Amino acid sequence: MSHHGEDTKFATKLIHFGAEIDKATGASSVPIYQASTFHQEDVDAHQPYDYTRSGNPTRQALEDYIALLEGGTRGFAFASGMAAISSALMLLSQGDHVVCTEDVYGGTYRLLTTIMNRMGVESTFVDMTDLAQVRAALRPNTKAIFLETPSNPTLKITDIAAIVAIAQEHDVLTMLDNTFMTPYHQRPIELGVDIVLHSATKFLGGHSDVLAGLAVVASDSLGRRMKQIQNGMGNVLGIQDSWLLMRGMKTLKARMEGSETSARRLAGWLSEQADVEAVFYPGLPNHPGREIHEKQSTGYGAVVSFDVGSGERAKQLMSRVRIPLVAVSLGAVESILSYPAMMSHASMPREVRLQRGITDGLVRYSVGLEDIEDIIEDLEQALRG
Ligand SMILES: *Cc1c(COP(=O)(O)O)cnc(C)c1O
Repeated sequence: MSHHGEDTKFATKLIHFGAEIDKATGASSVPIYQASTFHQEDVDAHQPYDYTRSGNPTRQALEDYIALLEGGTRGFAFASGMAAISSALMLLSQGDHVVCTEDVYGGTYRLLTTIMNRMGVESTFVDMTDLAQVRAALRPNTKAIFLETPSNPTLKITDIAAIVAIAQEHDVLTMLDNTFMTPYHQRPIELGVDIVLHSATKFLGGHSDVLAGLAVVASDSLGRRMKQIQNGMGNVLGIQDSWLLMRGMKTLKARMEGSETSARRLAGWLSEQADVEAVFYPGLPNHPGREIHEKQSTGYGAVVSFDVGSGERAKQLMSRVRIPLVAVSLGAVESILSYPAMMSHASMPREVRLQRGITDGLVRYSVGLEDIEDIIEDLEQALRG
């Protein structure tokens, strides 16, 4: 237990995060405290746990774990990524305004435009790679800037430090969806971001078997406010899923490294194929955001999007591939191929979709841990028939 805490490097933290050995028995994993309530031995004394919605030791271990990895003061585990994101947005009040990146995750877009707006929270969507647009969108009632970088599915890069500077100048909170990079590649709190959010369903869980969301805050005061929201909304992560998520997170570095190495190879190979019209990957030399991405991240991630030219060819590819799961989602040990135009972005009007670069021929490949030679060979047969 001597090698844990804030003084170790990332991979060591992943394994030795503080609760990895049960203090009562020496067991080699966090116990699953499958209990909804806690006996109060002395009703006058303050006990750390009283009721599982308000706190549970298994969930607490996960919350401390993600706070350590992101370098924040406090972590929170929620029933899904959207539960984490909606809870963070509950920090806002009626009459407030949010500036949000235009290519934000579809669920976040839906939340802001169909639910938060009814609660009197307005939002403006801008191209966050253009700082002038961000400045122009700010209003006297703007209370938060919501960013996601790299974005999905076209992997556009936002300059995190530049947005933080604008936000601090105007006393506005920054919230960043860090699902694609994970704290292994990108730690936004170190760059001044106030709240980091995750769909832990993706890379953190890593095995396509748990739905979960995480939030990490940079300050104690935000921690107290988020705790009140989490307890008040009651959208906490269950105990078994908290354990399962920690189980997955221990291998985050090994999984991210393996998948990223393969994703770089895949992006390079795709770039050389004459019948692939465009490849989107922040690690490619011609990616417009590459320099900014390298300033704020230590890797390029495992998601590669590419355009095969038409909807017909995209559908053909989907039906012919043998290795990847053809599905919504990403960030797992198995490769996952998705078709944004008909899956994640199907509800977006076609014109808006095209304007955001989500063409009919665009597909998104989340590279898993299969051998890259097999992944490429499979894509080659699927593309050429
Ligand atoms: C999947 C995803 C979400 C939503 O998370 P859920 O766990 O599905 O609720 C949010 N942001 C990004 C970037 C995602 O990929």
